[in-house]
Amino acid sequence: MFGIIARNLLKGSRSEAVSEPGDRAVQDLLAKLHAAARRRLGRSLAIRQVDAGSCNACELEIQALSNPLYDLERLGLSFVASPRHADVLLVTGPVTANMREGLLKTWEATPDPKWVVALGQCAIDGHLFADSYAVVGGVSQVLPVDLVIPGCPPRPADILAGLLALIEAEGRPQAGVAASTAGADKG
Ligand code: SF4
Repeated sequence: MFGIIARNLLKGSRSEAVSEPGDRAVQDLLAKLHAAARRRLGRSLAIRQVDAGSCNACELEIQALSNPLYDLERLGLSFVASPRHADVLLVTGPVTANMREGLLKTWEATPDPKWVVALGQCAIDGHLFADSYAVVGGVSQVLPVDLVIPGCPPRPADILAGLLALIEAEGRPQAGVAASTAGADKG
């Protein structure tokens, strides 16, 4: 036992050094996002992620933004558990019939003004699942969408670029009602 401990102590750490995120472009995106959030909001941008029926690959890329490589929270962006604390609804997946009402209620619970981002091709137009009887379609079939981030799934760098474009865009979205198609069946 003591021999094993002594041998491991002598060998030193076996874990790999954590590398910096990707390339220079990602570093630049992170820095710009940080500066834009401080300039526009003077505080953290709060994001509520909503899975409206995704295959979960989009969620894996979103979760990567919180890992030690990207560590979005240190840059003034945070994922929140309640829509009541959110500035942005980040929606993934084709909106399933079962999730339509939940998505709409989440949108209604988010204080104005608010942004809606459709992340991934499914959230944009239903993608692979567009013809399914169980799917309403893209997020725009239920809510007004401010930004789309294409990809299947989009890479973390694409998500960063999309959020940056959202924050840097002139003006904040206005208070308003959901799209008139809310609650409508797929035609
Ligand atoms: S866009 Fe691709 S990765 Fe994202 S939920 Fe749809 S199928 Fe999955």
